Amino acid sequence: MVSHADLCGFTTETGQVMVAVGWLDPRGGFPVGAADPRLLPALTRLCYTHEQNLTRACYQCPYCLAHHVFRDVPEIPGARPVLLGNAEIHIVGPDGVAYAAPTLVVHYVEEHGYLPPRPFVEAALWVDARTPRELQEWNR
Ligand SMILES: [Zn+2]
Repeated sequence: MVSHADLCGFTTETGQVMVAVGWLDPRGGFPVGAADPRLLPALTRLCYTHEQNLTRACYQCPYCLAHHVFRDVPEIPGARPVLLGNAEIHIVGPDGVAYAAPTLVVHYVEEHGYLPPRPFVEAALWVDARTPRELQEWNR
């Protein structure tokens, strides 16, 4: 999996400018800390509601080699568990900044104490709070 420094901007193939978060470099360290308790459930829901760039491959965690990790989606009854490592979360915060994070970010926060940058955390909580907690079309 490609690594990018947190909050590094990049342009997608379709020309959209996005900010990278959670593309951790397996050879480097990353910020660790106590995350807002709302972050983990919010990120897990965003894997379900804001999944993008699904890949055929499923990346494993470069730190503990966990792979094919599934997580139940909190507070969306009937939602299929999300697979971590084969897609990205794309969100646009209240200031219009678009973020792209690998779905493995859920695992990094939960198992490795990764603390994403504050602007991304605020955007994730903001988007999650405004997203209906209902089944996605593909899950019906
Ligand atoms: Zn891991």
